[in-house]
Amino acid sequence: MRPEILYPLFCGIETLKGVGERNRQLLARLAGDKIVDLLWHLPSGLIDRRYSPKIREALPGRVATLVVKIKEHLPPKNHHQPYRVVVEDDSGEMILIFFKVYLESIRKNLPEGEVRVISGKIESFNGMKQMSHPDYIGGLKQLDEIRNIETVYPLTAGISNKALNRWISQALAKTPLFSEWLNTDFLRQKNWKSFNLALEAVHHPKQFSDLEALAPDRMRLAYDELLANQLALCLARQRVKKQAGRVINGNGELRQKLFSLLPFQLTDAQKRVLEEIYADQRAPYRMLRLLQGDVGSGKTIVALFSMLNAVECGLQTAIMAPTEILAKQHLETMKPFCEQLGLRAELLCGKTKAKQRKLLLEDLAQGKINILIGTHALFQEDVRFCNLAYVVVDEQHRFGVQQRLSLSAKGDKVDILVMTATPIPRTLVLTTYGDMEYSKIDQVPEGRKPVDTRVLPVDKIQDVVAGLRRKLESGARAYWVCPLVEESEKSDLAAAQERFEALKKIFGEKVGLIHGKMKEKEKDDVMEKFKSGTLRLLVATTVIEVGVNVPEATLMIIEHAERFGLAQLHQLRGRIKRGFEASNCLLLYAGPLSETAKERLDIMRKTEDGFLIAEKDLELRGGGEILGNRQSGFSEFKLADMSVHKDLLYTAHKDAQMILELDPKLESPRGKALKILLYLFERDDAVKTYISG
Ligand code: ADP
Ligand code: MG
Repeated sequence: MRPEILYPLFCGIETLKGVGERNRQLLARLAGDKIVDLLWHLPSGLIDRRYSPKIREALPGRVATLVVKIKEHLPPKNHHQPYRVVVEDDSGEMILIFFKVYLESIRKNLPEGEVRVISGKIESFNGMKQMSHPDYIGGLKQLDEIRNIETVYPLTAGISNKALNRWISQALAKTPLFSEWLNTDFLRQKNWKSFNLALEAVHHPKQFSDLEALAPDRMRLAYDELLANQLALCLARQRVKKQAGRVINGNGELRQKLFSLLPFQLTDAQKRVLEEIYADQRAPYRMLRLLQGDVGSGKTIVALFSMLNAVECGLQTAIMAPTEILAKQHLETMKPFCEQLGLRAELLCGKTKAKQRKLLLEDLAQGKINILIGTHALFQEDVRFCNLAYVVVDEQHRFGVQQRLSLSAKGDKVDILVMTATPIPRTLVLTTYGDMEYSKIDQVPEGRKPVDTRVLPVDKIQDVVAGLRRKLESGARAYWVCPLVEESEKSDLAAAQERFEALKKIFGEKVGLIHGKMKEKEKDDVMEKFKSGTLRLLVATTVIEVGVNVPEATLMIIEHAERFGLAQLHQLRGRIKRGFEASNCLLLYAGPLSETAKERLDIMRKTEDGFLIAEKDLELRGGGEILGNRQSGFSEFKLADMSVHKDLLYTAHKDAQMILELDPKLESPRGKALKILLYLFERDDAVKTYISG
């Protein structure tokens, strides 16, 4: 239950004065639909209205607040003229200009002979001072209020800064006084204000430096948000860690046999990572480990070894892939080995026929299947294992965090290994996974030739096609990846289809098309034909992005490469890095490119190191795209900005660990304040699930 003290902040914005249905919708889209969301809508600028000269001294170009007497109204003589009002003080006269007027309001607000406060930008026209559409017109009583620093917020059409200021003031007034949740010494050391004072200050910037992400008050709020995030993740982690797990420590027989079956040696990185996984499996608590390894680093075989450890103990294991193509690929890799080891590996997908599925499920429940491979169909209600002990989740970023947590429900004390080919920078690991253990395969098997990557303007497409022809004639296979069109998947498809038709005219029947809207069966057929070589050139949307393995493909052309994220380009390029032949990647762009875009494509040309690319990507664009926006774990921050607040994240991480070590249920006075912090930043789940109440 949300603490009562927070009720006022979690009311709908429509409860604010002046927010009707129309404004509610606009505001909801701009900031959010709860009052608390307005608190996190931070100013982007300020206007200093404290300059308050006489008319004569007022400098054109500056924003000024003046006290003037209304002298006379000069209505326009024709449509082209503005409405003018002459005002004066004891130094001279100036003219207020209105291009669009509501006569009533202008007469009412600027009555002749009265004194008014006006504020806006001073202009000069034909030697005469003037002001077009003053931002503020008020009575003398409002002088101090207007002659001040105005906070400027990011706006949306239909909402004025004035109105937004008023609503945010109301929201601030509703903010309760919180007990401090940060450590006092830490606060003093940072020289930070209390949350309440910092929040007030952030919404009332006094100078431009106050608007910077590194301004102390903003840092304090960012830290609070990061601490809530880290605390929630640490709570989840603490819970998993405390859960008793099975001791999985096989006799090594199957693994020994697998070694002798492999046509290659494991890399040192693979060996090291396996030892880390075995150690987890052996330990008497539940395992939850993230395995990172760049495309082609050989994660699948690592997964298989660790699964055999469980099978040696007579236990069942499962591996879950995000798509059917990938699940099938795993089956193809694992099944031949399993057969030679006398084990049974089976595939279970959404498309598995009912009759076959029934038989499969029976065998599964009786423990006759050692390794079950599939998509999320593995975790449907009626799928019952006999003794599932270990689950590998491949290409994890396609699955939601929630799915990951609920996975464990399928078996008693199930160990989990999450594998991802997306190199995730440490900051991102921390914000999305907390302190989940993680292993990195930071080495690709030897002998792989680097991909020769070139960046070309799209007007070179004729040359590209000529080069492609030579490649295809020499027996190579190639991908042609089509532009990502922002608006909708349908237009992605149209672009791909168009390119497909055009290339078909040139290369004939050798050209295939694959895209996300195709049925699974159709996709499989196309992939099959490409693998077998019936198709030589595969035009694709980004469906080929994850994991698909066709070692013969050695050329990739990516159209409108500038529209892709770096992480995505890296994934795509990984598709042609599989073979031991030299391969080429051509990044076609449509100019002109911005400096950042140039820099991004240049990184792709210079390096194949996924971690480096990910770090750069983060620097150049923020974390959003690495994991796909919604799940990035970065975009969910409203106040913290990972390009500047990285250090705060590390501190918050340590802070959270220390807090929970001393006070695992958050019961001390500081703990109670922290619970409120969790609710304030809407980490309700963490509180409810892990510390009841
Ligand atoms: P990813 O990490 O991208 O999932 P895979 O597991 O699919 O990579 O491995 C890519 C290819 O490398 C596969 O064909 C696999 O058999 C091969 N491979 C894996 N480990 C090694 C190794 N140590 N030496 C040589 N080839 C390897
Ligand atoms: Mg893989």
